[in-house]
Amino acid sequence: MEYITLNNGIKMPVLGYGVYQIPNTQTKECVLEALEVGYRLIDTAQYYGNERGVGDAIKASGIPRDEIFITTKLKSNHNVERLINQSLSDLQTDYIDLLLIHWVMGNDLATWRIMENAVHSGKVHAIGLSNFYGSAYDNIVKNAEILPAVNQIEHHVLRQNKSFHKILDKTETILEAWAPFGEGKAGLFTNPVIAKIASTYGKTTAQIMLCFYLQSGIVAIPKSIHKARMIENFDIFDFKLAEDDMKAIEELNQERDLFGWY
Ligand code: NDP
Repeated sequence: MEYITLNNGIKMPVLGYGVYQIPNTQTKECVLEALEVGYRLIDTAQYYGNERGVGDAIKASGIPRDEIFITTKLKSNHNVERLINQSLSDLQTDYIDLLLIHWVMGNDLATWRIMENAVHSGKVHAIGLSNFYGSAYDNIVKNAEILPAVNQIEHHVLRQNKSFHKILDKTETILEAWAPFGEGKAGLFTNPVIAKIASTYGKTTAQIMLCFYLQSGIVAIPKSIHKARMIENFDIFDFKLAEDDMKAIEELNQERDLFGWY
């Protein structure tokens, strides 16, 4: 596994495993498989309702806790301290590696202060945002004692967040790509430009997309419930895309929102 250093000095794996839409009853099995494959970053959220499954898998894996990086996300701006404690209990851990505000909820600066306190008390090691853009993002950055380590946003080859990535770079905030395959929407897995590049490297379109993010300094957290795909999505560390192939994929960008959420 390769790691990226966050703006607080903490190391985070450059590739993770996302568990959105995996029912809690299936999550333990999936996360155990992902850990077996080699994933060491697990991305969950209070809203997903599967933190307990993640915690069960980590416990059952026998892998030392400090070798696994857990990200979770706040589902509300009410009772934030209690929500953090609930996540710790469900994840069955003493600390959360990275805690994000899941989306702009209002009173975000007040939530941020409680998250900063959770860092000071050791319950959380790094804090960040998700789906924060424009003034909502600026408001946190301008007033933060601890700058956001990560902003997790919709990011795939059709939405490359070109100008926003530069803004994030100013505070060394890592862009983390949710839906790195756009959940397969808009024919991403069969895109002809990506498919042509994939055939020259003897790789799949999924692997080309993930390698593209890796080489752009972006952390991706693909989800799959199938072990063969977990393996496929993990097998991206043995090749590098040439500059003209990077450029060809960059040109696919349309800054196109595939979900209509943010
Ligand atoms: P992805 O872009 O990761 O796509 C997942 C879909 O692609 C699933 O249907 C999966 O099917 C399929 N798939 C995965 N690998 C392959 C492959 N190699 N070949 C073909 N199909 C494949 O979408 P997600 O929405 O799941 O995003 C990833 C993660 O990002 C989430 O799990 C979550 O952790 C996070 N996220 C965060 C959000 C936020 O607001 N912060 C919003 C949405 C996601 P199958 O499972 O059947 O293999």
